[in-house]
Amino acid sequence: GAKKTYNFCSGPAMLPEDVLLKAQAELLNYQNQGDSVMALSHRSDAFLEILAQAQQRLAALLDLPDHYRILFMQGGASAQFSAVPLNLRQNNLPIGFLDSGYWSQKALEEAQKYAEVDVIASSQSSGYLKAIEQADYQLSKPLSYLHYTPNETIDGNAFYCIPNNQLPNGQEVPLVADMSSCILSEPIDVSRFGVIYAGAQKNIGPAGLAIVIVREDLLARSQQNQQAMPRLLNYATVVEQNSMANTPPTFAIYMANLVFQWLQQQGGLEVIQQRNQAKAELLYQAIDSSRLFVNNVEKNHRSKMNVPFSSQNAELDAKFAEQAQQQGLISLQGHRSKGGLRASIYNAMPYQGVEALVQFMKSFENQYV
Ligand code: PMP
Repeated sequence: GAKKTYNFCSGPAMLPEDVLLKAQAELLNYQNQGDSVMALSHRSDAFLEILAQAQQRLAALLDLPDHYRILFMQGGASAQFSAVPLNLRQNNLPIGFLDSGYWSQKALEEAQKYAEVDVIASSQSSGYLKAIEQADYQLSKPLSYLHYTPNETIDGNAFYCIPNNQLPNGQEVPLVADMSSCILSEPIDVSRFGVIYAGAQKNIGPAGLAIVIVREDLLARSQQNQQAMPRLLNYATVVEQNSMANTPPTFAIYMANLVFQWLQQQGGLEVIQQRNQAKAELLYQAIDSSRLFVNNVEKNHRSKMNVPFSSQNAELDAKFAEQAQQQGLISLQGHRSKGGLRASIYNAMPYQGVEALVQFMKSFENQYV
């Protein structure tokens, strides 16, 4: 029978049940092709149709302007930590970073192998309990690009404004965003970005796949930098080869296409945003009114996707995660670097899942406080 669990893992994360059921129904014989979609040639009409649909659906969901390209790549978001600087670095210009947490740092550490980096602003001194505000910095000199992490998956903070990427002379530095843990959770204005990238394993589908959205004019930089990077990471090559510069992760793309279809069926990103807002409000209210649990992230920078919380007692946190697991509320332990607890409540998490969590938090609190 259907499993009655809610999975709060930060990624790989739960997928919509309807999507899993569709994949299950089609697994052995994809649309009368005689075999699984996993075993179809990536050059077959059937697969090319899936790829085209996935691109069209994602473009429709994001209201993608014509001068942007969608790329399906491999190596998750981490491969993009290398790909972005290798593609976009320019002459001897530094790469700017807004450092708002663990994943900002990871991106920065990789980029500095390939170029000088300049930390334009950091919220490290706050313990990453906030993102970065417009007032926190001013760009003063040209950069290859400005990188930021709109949703920090581990620290649980988020930007609610697109950062300022204007130089004093009015020129714009291309803005690059690692949207791994917030992509498709709300509408965004793609036209503000140079590159958007995301690992698929939270809001899109199987781990290993990465979505990259590139503004067309930046492909000239990829061509210029071509000799100095792996062919598979070159955005211009991937665009030219229609995301098939080698055998693409066909099953992952198939799953992503089903998730895009599901999002459209839900009514698109405005509807999803409202649901995510309601889920996050319910959970933060429960934490803020709790006598046991706390979340110290600044209220106007709290992530709607990843909600860290803690009883501030490691033993009690461990007990909570274990007992929750027994109730079917799985993967609530915090990241290994940080401890505590964390509930990831991506698109596929139903409101009822958050209600079940909140109820369990209350009963646990009554038992232990
Ligand atoms: N960036 C962010 C914001 C993430 O949350 C993660 C994964 N949790 C990554 C990058 C790394 O993703 P991957 O494991 O797909 O390389």
